[in-house]
Amino acid sequence: MHEGAPVNPWVALAYLVAGICFILALRGLSSPASSRRGNRLGMLGMAIAVVTTLITHEIASPIELGAAIAIGGAIGFVTARRIAMTAMPQLVAAFHSLVGMAAVLVAAAAFLNPGAFGILGADGEILSVSRIEMGLGVAIGAITFSGSVIAFLKLNGNMSGKPILLPGRHVINLGVLAGILGLIAYFVTDQSPWVFWTVTALSFVIGFLLIVPIGGADMPVVVSMLNSYSGWAAAAMGFTLHNSAMIITGALVGSSGAILSYIMCRAMNRSFLSVIAGGFGATDGGGAAGQAIDRPWKRGSAEDAAFLMSQAEQVIIVPGYGMAVAQAQHALREMADKLKEHGVRVKYAIHPVAGRMPGHMNVLLAEANVPYDEVFELEDINSEFAQTDVAFVIGANDVTNPAAKTDKSSPIYGMPVLDVEKAKTVLFIKRSMGGVGYAGVDNELFYRDNTMMLLADAKKMVEEIVKSLD
Ligand code: NDP
Repeated sequence: MHEGAPVNPWVALAYLVAGICFILALRGLSSPASSRRGNRLGMLGMAIAVVTTLITHEIASPIELGAAIAIGGAIGFVTARRIAMTAMPQLVAAFHSLVGMAAVLVAAAAFLNPGAFGILGADGEILSVSRIEMGLGVAIGAITFSGSVIAFLKLNGNMSGKPILLPGRHVINLGVLAGILGLIAYFVTDQSPWVFWTVTALSFVIGFLLIVPIGGADMPVVVSMLNSYSGWAAAAMGFTLHNSAMIITGALVGSSGAILSYIMCRAMNRSFLSVIAGGFGATDGGGAAGQAIDRPWKRGSAEDAAFLMSQAEQVIIVPGYGMAVAQAQHALREMADKLKEHGVRVKYAIHPVAGRMPGHMNVLLAEANVPYDEVFELEDINSEFAQTDVAFVIGANDVTNPAAKTDKSSPIYGMPVLDVEKAKTVLFIKRSMGGVGYAGVDNELFYRDNTMMLLADAKKMVEEIVKSLD
């Protein structure tokens, strides 16, 4: 696989073009309006990089490689076609775990057969620089793998989303991390197998230990952080394979994931360190964790909601994870169109962590062709609730919970939330009074005088409201 010979300038040029396509792809993905173009450019860049690599490398067994590409491609194709939009976050976590495992396997292959990778020095030993690359590559890959598996289990509901706090976890984590770094440094002087495999094993363990204590509302940061790790794992593989396209791609994914983690932390008012240290603010699950408060509340019907909204000057729609579960976005768009026919001004307020992955709500609203100029970020619309007649909360919960502003014991305390309670009326769609949001806490908003609960599946409720508006 290793080229050995000086880099062919055409290969370097092709990889450069692929790198430019990736940068333009990221640029395109920064806005829903240009995201399709961004995706196409990303696919083009990847096609250039893969084809260049295939035609410029001697392939030992084209049949085996072809079969592997066909099997992997078919699995990816079927999964992508079948996957429900609501299962996207766990799918992303699963894909991150594959990148991590690939990095581990590449580093292991290079360690077991260094000659084939062109990393042997004149003394027949692995080059020092390659040992560092390999050690870091296997560590990052293993952490990405086991961390992503835990994130998958949590997001898929196979493991409780609540933080699992081990006693003395900070000391254990720091000790394991120091052990890994120390062994990578020692690996430069001694390339015995036990050093390599101990680094690998400890890295699998630390990936597990780092993600297990993170839970509840902090999961969005985990998703973006693992995205970043998977990029660095790919870059590490690029070093081992002497493939500059892989290094560029990995570094782009790694740094954009790191920026996204920073943005998510800011959106949730968390410090990055406190999130990765794990279990931040979640020691006892918070005040009203999961138990319905025994207080009076108002129940409304589709007709009530239609009447209230048709009389309003402005309605702000607040979508959340429940809208994704119900796939209510198309019905919602129809409802907004009807309201506009009644002369009502309609806007959408998007919380940065609404749903289960960054940009989840934007993707769903774009799918339903909601005009981009009606969609606003939290900081741009929050001051408008006080002058709004109706806040229409559809399947959102945590991102509207006023406890984040007032209850210091709540796991979501400190996270900026949408000030829906300031609207004259809050219409709140969810299926039952018992169901809680991802963070597992009850929402005091349900019991306020100006809140009307619309208990039903979001899509069915919105379809009935559309009928009533007719
Ligand atoms: P929440 O998970 O807080 O609430 C979802 C609400 O939707 C619940 O009240 C639920 O109540 C309701 N619901 C579920 N299904 C339906 C349905 N079919 N019809 C109507 N209602 C339904 O969602 P939010 O979007 O407000 O908050 C996102 C949460 O997820 C935050 O805590 C965030 O930290 C976390 N998270 C976000 C990630 C991201 O990247 N965006 C990643 C991982 C976690 P009921 O069951 O009674 O219907």
